Amino acid sequence: MGAVVLTPDGQIFGGAVLENSNWTAGVCAEVAAITDANSNGHYELVSMAIALDPKDFIDYKGLPPCGGCRQVISDCAQTYGRNIEVIIANADKSKVVVSSIEELLPGAFGPKHLPKAII
Ligand SMILES: [Zn+2]
Repeated sequence: MGAVVLTPDGQIFGGAVLENSNWTAGVCAEVAAITDANSNGHYELVSMAIALDPKDFIDYKGLPPCGGCRQVISDCAQTYGRNIEVIIANADKSKVVVSSIEELLPGAFGPKHLPKAII
């Protein structure tokens, strides 16, 4: 599984899932892609595309981001006042689901709920 993010100036950054026998040491592809963008000085994102192995495309919703990834994407979205588009597709693009972070995590907790000193 892999993910890429698109910045407002058209740059693309990506990441792949890092699986580990210790689940807490693993990294989701979505977070890896955002980390790649952030590491290159890009924090504002327009969209994210997630590519799955066809066997992982479980139902019409594909394999949506986990709760932790939804929160990370939502924080990025809220920080810049964007509703980040989230595209989930299998490798041959025969199945594609387009949604947004506000659809995936409605009413999200985020930076606006934290005291300014913490952000
Ligand atoms: Zn995740």
